[in-house]
Amino acid sequence: MSKVIYFDNNATTKVADEVFEAMKPFLTDLYGNPSSMHTFGGQVEKYIRHSREAVAQLLGCDSSEIIFTSCGTESDNAAIKGVLAALPEKKKIITTRVEHPAVLATCREMQSLGYTLIELGVDKYGQIDLKELKSQVDENTAIVSIMYANNETGVIFPIDKIAEIVKTKGIVFHTDAVQAVGKIPLNLSKSNIDLLSLSGHKLHAPKGVGVLYIKKGTRISPFLVGGHQEKSRRAGTENVAGIVALGKASELALKTINGENTKVKKLRDKLENEILKTCTGAMLNGDKINRLPNTTNISFEFIEGEAILLLLNQFGICASSGSACTSGSLEPSHVMRAMGVPFTAAHGSIRFSLSRYNTEDEVDFVIEKMPAIVNRLRELSPFVK
Ligand code: PLP
Repeated sequence: MSKVIYFDNNATTKVADEVFEAMKPFLTDLYGNPSSMHTFGGQVEKYIRHSREAVAQLLGCDSSEIIFTSCGTESDNAAIKGVLAALPEKKKIITTRVEHPAVLATCREMQSLGYTLIELGVDKYGQIDLKELKSQVDENTAIVSIMYANNETGVIFPIDKIAEIVKTKGIVFHTDAVQAVGKIPLNLSKSNIDLLSLSGHKLHAPKGVGVLYIKKGTRISPFLVGGHQEKSRRAGTENVAGIVALGKASELALKTINGENTKVKKLRDKLENEILKTCTGAMLNGDKINRLPNTTNISFEFIEGEAILLLLNQFGICASSGSACTSGSLEPSHVMRAMGVPFTAAHGSIRFSLSRYNTEDEVDFVIEKMPAIVNRLRELSPFVK
């Protein structure tokens, strides 16, 4: 395969070499079932325990609060549905219009079953109004689910303030932190977050493993019943290799979070500043300050994001328009619409998301290619005179 320049790390990430090495024995020699009575299987259990501790360290919580799942989507579904099942007398859910479909579709499904759903809007920077949140949280509310950082724009919500508002009213607070974990430091021991979702493949572990953090004392029903695994909350034989991988990825993330993210942010800023300077009709989407260090979302007025992606693809450059899960649809992304990005610009939005494996040479290559791509498409645009 020719060289790939991968700027789509919010969709998924490369498995780190160290992570691959750590998980390999559990796909070959150490294949026992951790629940088995014999030593061959039982010995695997301690590696799961070690991973649980590594994830807990990354999040700043206790390892007993970590439940392994199969992905971020499962964790989001489990958090929302599990709390609703545990609190049957409460009938209201609060979320935002810019959540990932893993949260939004779950909430809307529950709405179709009779729950009241409040979707908070955002301003042009992608931020919610905390006063509106405060006025909506009442004793009929079962759960408030608000993402830590947006997958399309990288915008970070003031989660500690949000959690405090929700907690003051005694309501359960869940955050989808799939894009935040590994990119910004978190410390759950000092926060009012009750439930938090993360996904292995967004932080250089493989696909097929995730976590739901459940703060001690949070009322939540089991989400997969069967065996006794994961304290009987999430039954099913553990994905041992995936769990070990996530433990290793968490250790690496903890070690690199400050140094690597400064480097990633510098590369992101260079890419963004140059594109905004050299490409006609380019504008930044979202909050320039409160955002993930690796993400930039730029609109190119009057041209199609998909057309830009196809031309970038010819050079082996991978980026994204809208979220990976919604691309394929011709509708502009729900996040751009919620921020009020004009239709002519929302259609032309491109997300570049970097990782610690990107280099300055790659950034320079994209900077060099973009102006010609944009000019070529603008010449073809029926909207530009
Ligand atoms: N939540 C957010 C914010 C995401 O960005 C994603 C994936 O893109 C998910 C949830 C779903 O995670 P997974 O792919 O592990 O199911």
